[in-house]
Amino acid sequence: MYEPVQRCTHCGANLTLDDLRKPNCTYCGTVLPHRAQAEQHAQVVGQVMNQMMGQQAQIQNQWRQGFGLGPMAPPPPMMGTPMYVANNDVSKNITRMILIMVAVIVGFTLLIVIAGFLFAFLAAAPR
Ligand SMILES: [Zn+2]
Repeated sequence: MYEPVQRCTHCGANLTLDDLRKPNCTYCGTVLPHRAQAEQHAQVVGQVMNQMMGQQAQIQNQWRQGFGLGPMAPPPPMMGTPMYVANNDVSKNITRMILIMVAVIVGFTLLIVIAGFLFAFLAAAPR
């Protein structure tokens, strides 16, 4: 009922959408390349998220210390969580969305920093 959409890079078998949902080729057992890529992406995103959450926790702890409160418990690590591994289109889209969001946030922060430097430079420059 499914049309073959891709060939296995190892044995050349026609793979249907159903076959592509599996981690390995149905016929020769080779790990499918798009699957390996998705898992790499998920790992990278997990690392980035951990870093961001760590930074956020640091900032929050600084605020809490300012108000005389104790530090917060560190967030549980997200790496290696099986539910985070992208094995369908929805989580692949989420992975892409998170990467884009991180890129936008980093780009926006850089822009503000650069604008601040430019402004300070222009204000300090002799006329
Ligand atoms: Zn194969």
